[in-house]
Amino acid sequence: MSSAPPSATPLVLVVEDEPGIASILCAYLERDGLRARTAADGREALRLVQQLRPDLVLLDIHLPEVDGIDVLRAIRDGGQTPVIMVTALADDVDKLLALRLGADDYVVKPFNPPEVVARVRAVLRRTQARLAPSSAPIRVGAIEIDAQAHSACCFDAAGQAQPLALTLTEFRLLSCLAAQPRRCFSRGYLIEQCLPESDALERVIDSHMSKLRRKLQLAGQDGLIETVRGIGYRLWPAS
Ligand code: CA
Repeated sequence: MSSAPPSATPLVLVVEDEPGIASILCAYLERDGLRARTAADGREALRLVQQLRPDLVLLDIHLPEVDGIDVLRAIRDGGQTPVIMVTALADDVDKLLALRLGADDYVVKPFNPPEVVARVRAVLRRTQARLAPSSAPIRVGAIEIDAQAHSACCFDAAGQAQPLALTLTEFRLLSCLAAQPRRCFSRGYLIEQCLPESDALERVIDSHMSKLRRKLQLAGQDGLIETVRGIGYRLWPAS
């Protein structure tokens, strides 16, 4: 997550090797009151993500040096910085979903710059809503979710907290399910709450949920998330 204070003007890192597109995107973002910086290749993108700690990365998939998929993978290995992927082909979206790398949204070229800015704003709103001071950490069974710290952990048998490395979407899904344990949430509701304005299909929820489950399973929480046939999902803690 960003190290900038929530009140600061959000910084968007535009990773794009076509200078014309990069400058149009920056102009629209800045006109909307955001700050923008550019990186022209994957290597520079990774350096600037480390150095600038942007609030969001707008990431072209086809890049010189290190391609967008590897940049996304590296960003996800290092944290939960929101990422919107920019692709030239709708097929790339399927590839990204299949890889389950946890991009927060997808934009397909050729795009309409105001629409990209709207998507950026939507993802930032979701991120900042999660960062806004709310309540004490939620504890459900062995899982603890701290919305303020934007972190989740799992307590092992010895009572030691084991951090869960979740993507932004997985974190939102887990928080949503944990807010009302045992309630069954439909896929449509989860999309609305956790992936609004993303035009996501219901199978996108299955993909995120399966990755979230695997992480919980590795933390010893097998079966915590139940699939409710024909409806969706619920969190069903043992105790
Ligand atoms: Ca490109």
